[in-house]
Amino acid sequence: MDPNEYLFGRIALTLKVASREEVLECLQIQEDRGGSSQIGQIMIEMGYITEDQLGEVLATQRNFVRKVDTRSREKVEDTIFGKLIVNNNYATHEQVEDAVAEQGRREAMGMIVPLGSILVEKGLLTLVQVEDILKKQWKKILVCNTCQKQFNVFGYEEGKRFLCRTCKNPLDVPTTLKSVKVEKESD
Ligand SMILES: [Zn+2]
Repeated sequence: MDPNEYLFGRIALTLKVASREEVLECLQIQEDRGGSSQIGQIMIEMGYITEDQLGEVLATQRNFVRKVDTRSREKVEDTIFGKLIVNNNYATHEQVEDAVAEQGRREAMGMIVPLGSILVEKGLLTLVQVEDILKKQWKKILVCNTCQKQFNVFGYEEGKRFLCRTCKNPLDVPTTLKSVKVEKESD
């Protein structure tokens, strides 16, 4: 079964726009047709959902996929970050592993914390070291002087403008960083 179609069905159930039986029936029809029509269209055909509900489910699905994509990219970046920390002798492999485990425990509680923040918290890394490693990853922490949020910006170059994701004001290079509390990545 196409995982996207299955995801659509699950979201339709979560949003309570269709019943379990209706979703299963439409998934079956979808499969019988050899994937030639999408489950959303079939559900409309069958009169189980409206066009508005289709839009709602699709929007939720897009958001969900985007979140998963961002999170897996962040994880890859964090793995590289961890390796660079060890290669630069800023911390040992074991200390990085401990921090990764701590990160996992927090994620399980719904808190997404960058690896760098955890290492700083544990007193294993200084902010200068974090910035040094980020630079090797072509990243730089910029701050929004309007809403005070920090962003980990990829591809930073002097003079290039990056906007705050929250308030859309231009981000600035911080004069001194007092702590690392970066938001999601900014593009
Ligand atoms: Zn802002």
